[in-house]
Amino acid sequence: MALPPLVEPAAELSVDEIRRYSRHLIIPDVGMDGQKRLKNAKVLAVGAGGLGSPTLMYLAAAGVGTLGIIDFDTVDESNLQRQIIHGVSDVGTPKAESAARSIAEINPLVNVVIHNTALDRDNVKEIFSQYDLIVDGTDNFATRYMVNDAAVLLGKPYVWGSIYRFDGQASVFWEEHGPCYRCLYPEPPPPGMVPSCAEGGVLGVLCASIGSIQVNEAIKLITGIGEPLVGGLMVYDALEMSYRKIKVRKDPNCALCGENPTVTDLLEDYEDFCGAVSDEAQEAVTGSTITARELKEWQDSGKDVFLVDVREPAEWEINRIPGAVLIPKGEILSGEALAKFPQDRQIVLHCKSGVRSAEALAAIKAAGFKDAVHVQGGIVSWVNTVDPSLPSY
Ligand SMILES: [Zn+2]
Repeated sequence: MALPPLVEPAAELSVDEIRRYSRHLIIPDVGMDGQKRLKNAKVLAVGAGGLGSPTLMYLAAAGVGTLGIIDFDTVDESNLQRQIIHGVSDVGTPKAESAARSIAEINPLVNVVIHNTALDRDNVKEIFSQYDLIVDGTDNFATRYMVNDAAVLLGKPYVWGSIYRFDGQASVFWEEHGPCYRCLYPEPPPPGMVPSCAEGGVLGVLCASIGSIQVNEAIKLITGIGEPLVGGLMVYDALEMSYRKIKVRKDPNCALCGENPTVTDLLEDYEDFCGAVSDEAQEAVTGSTITARELKEWQDSGKDVFLVDVREPAEWEINRIPGAVLIPKGEILSGEALAKFPQDRQIVLHCKSGVRSAEALAAIKAAGFKDAVHVQGGIVSWVNTVDPSLPSY
C-alpha cells in the first residue's frame, strides 16, 4: 500500500545542495521534489547507540533537514564495537553531542537538535510533537512501549528496529494506516526472559543491517515513494542470511489502538509495566540481599560461603569473582543443578547486575534453601566497589 508523502517539499534547493545530492536528484522517483521533502523533514532518533548510529549517519547524508537526537548516556569503550557514529576521542562525552559532531562532519547542512536527556513520560509527547517522524533505536522494553504509546496518541508514524545477537527485526508503526507495536506484542516478555544486548551481546554489523532498513523506510515515508513497511514485520537472520517479511494486522482488541482501548494516555510507570524482575524474584530478594562489599567481608572473615555465578559460560570467560563456581541460571530454574547445592553452607548467588540472580534465588529458596542470598548489582558492583582491576563488560 503506497502512502502520500509525509512532508511537504521545501521551497528550493541551494546550489550546494544540488551538487551534494545529485545522485539522489537523478533517480526519477526521488528527484527535486523528493529531495526538497527530505530537506523539509524533521526526524527524531530515539537513542544514539547501535541502531541510532547508522540511522543518524545515513539520514544526515541523505539530506534530512532537521535531525533530533535524544540520548542521556555517555560514550563508553564497549560501545565502539557497533556504535560507529562515536570514536575513541568521544569516550566519556554525551552520546547526543558526540553524534551531533559526527553529523556536522558528514553534512553541515543538517540542523541538529540535541536532547541530552532521558526520554520519559513527562517529556516524550512534547519532544515527539516537534518532529514529523520518529526512528526508534531503543534497547529496552519500557522505552519501546512508551515510544509506541506516545506515537499512537500523537498520531505520528515511527520506524522501529530491534537487534539481538544475530537476529534483527524492523517495522513501521502508524496507527492511522496499520498496526501499532502493541498489536504485534500486546505484553512485554516476562522479566528475565529476554536478555538485553548488554547481557546477551549483539553482532556489531547487525546494527547496520537493521539501521539501513530503518533509514530506507524513513526516506520512503518522507518522500511518499514505494511501499512502506506498514503492516509488515521484517525478520533478519544473519547466520542463515535470510530476510522474511511477515504480515502484521491491526488487532481489534489492541489495548491502545483497538476498538475498545483500555490505554488512553501514557502509563504512569513503564518500568513497572515491563517489570525489571518478576514478582517471585522481588519477593525472594527481600531481606535476602547482600552488597558486593558484604560478600568480600564474609569471604575475608572465613565464613563458609558457597558462591554461585549464575551467568553464562561466555561471561564467565570474561571475568569472575574469586571462589565462585559457575552454574548458569537455566540449570537452576530447570532443577537439574539443584543437587550441586550443599545443605550446610551459606549459599550466595550472583550474576552480572542482579536480575538473573534474583530469578535464580526465587528457585533456590523454593527448593528449600531458605537462607540463600544474592548480591545486589552482581559482578558489576563487585568490580566497582571491591576489585576495579577485574575486566568489565
Ligand atoms: Zn495497536
